[in-house]
Amino acid sequence: MYKCILPIKNQLTRTGAVPIFTEGLYELAEGIYSWMVPNGSWGESNHGLITGRTESILIDTAWDVTLTKTLIKRLDPIINSKPINKVINTHGDGDHCWGNQLFADREIIASRATQQNMYHVKPEILQKVKKVSEVVQHIPISRCKHFGQWFTHMLSSYDYRDVTITPATTTFEREMTIQGDPHELVLYEMQSSHTDGDTLIYLPKEEILFSGDILFIQGTPVLWAGTADNWIDALKRIIELNPKTIVPGHGYFTDTEGVKALIDYWQFVDHELKQQFLKGVTSVEAANLVALSADFKKRGYHKWDAAERIVTSSMTLYKHWSNAPPSKPSTYKQLKMFSEQAELSVRLKAAS
Ligand SMILES: [Zn+2]
Repeated sequence: MYKCILPIKNQLTRTGAVPIFTEGLYELAEGIYSWMVPNGSWGESNHGLITGRTESILIDTAWDVTLTKTLIKRLDPIINSKPINKVINTHGDGDHCWGNQLFADREIIASRATQQNMYHVKPEILQKVKKVSEVVQHIPISRCKHFGQWFTHMLSSYDYRDVTITPATTTFEREMTIQGDPHELVLYEMQSSHTDGDTLIYLPKEEILFSGDILFIQGTPVLWAGTADNWIDALKRIIELNPKTIVPGHGYFTDTEGVKALIDYWQFVDHELKQQFLKGVTSVEAANLVALSADFKKRGYHKWDAAERIVTSSMTLYKHWSNAPPSKPSTYKQLKMFSEQAELSVRLKAAS
């Protein structure tokens, strides 16, 4: 589709897989670039770079400071004469904003809800989980081993020790237009789904969209905050915009076909989990039943990266269906949820 103009040859991805596309810089239109990170698994999030006549705008920083520094260095041929003076964060997950501190003296733009979200996960907690997992994976008790192996696989390439949460300096609600000279960027805030405040960044003239994590390609989306209906509405909004090229938050370029695949996923998963909810099955059991069902396999969802994320989505949907008041789960509850994901991941592997 596009040629990689600044390729990085890696034997393996950050999470240890064989790359299915080349990491590096791709030019999508004059002055509009994306930095694609294969294969789109944990922390393998893509970036955008919009260059104007004298300066540039970066879309999303990386999951830690070292990776963000490396990215800036690699972008040097483009940005040395057009320095980055603005950063836009598509949402508040660490893998899209934990390099913000390198731009602390510049404008950082995000939706107001995203700005609040940036404080929800603490880098020091994740660093502790990483350390504990490295030990726990060797304990010969299956739950401990699975938990340790699952987190070690996710976190071993990242280092959060020097991350300082650096929130947005400019916030907006619903919509904001940036005149990037010569590129116009329109930011659309979506209703709560993946997180609160996810933003689509659209370049109307060039018909290019940076979707953030509203789109995962060949990867399993995860519902941290809102409803599947809100997520489907956000995906329909992308189809209405009808971009020629979409840079997803994770995975390779796509067009509206990739968007439709995710609509199908959410319609299927939402419906199947709801049936289990109505029968009184717990959210974790429901996630297991759906993920290990023949229909899930027939649709190929078991092959999407991290299919076990359905556990988190199930828990979030159950909260909405039982009208539970919005609350942030304790660290213990979150770790318990991840332990259930680790268990399902083992079952999925055994079943495939
Ligand atoms: Zn992400």
